[in-house]
Amino acid sequence: MQTEPLLSLSDTERQQQAASLVREIADLERRLWMRKQNLQTLQSDCRHDWAIAYTPEHWQGYRIEASGGGSDFTPAINVGPETVRRWTRTCKHCRKQQVTQRTKREQHPGAIPGTAAEVEVPVFD
Ligand SMILES: [Zn+2]
Repeated sequence: MQTEPLLSLSDTERQQQAASLVREIADLERRLWMRKQNLQTLQSDCRHDWAIAYTPEHWQGYRIEASGGGSDFTPAINVGPETVRRWTRTCKHCRKQQVTQRTKREQHPGAIPGTAAEVEVPVFD
């Protein structure tokens, strides 16, 4: 059974509402663009002070069921859950954020003078 729409508009009302929404969206997009420009200017002029957080991505496992038949048969595949290592750094002053999955090994001084340890650190562009 077909249900009636809750709000039934005449063609004229629909045209007026659509025109109003189009104008409003264009105005919001212009204001959003200007805000982004302002933020970008502010951030490009900042002496960043980064706070780094470990923000891994977790992917749920899933199953792709078997399909096709005969020579087109594709067996079912189980894709296991996965955790992708990832770090996010946020500037304490301007809130600029950067995300990376890359790391490098670095030598750091050990607790006892004359010693050193190799540690893995995230690399941001
Ligand atoms: Zn900054």
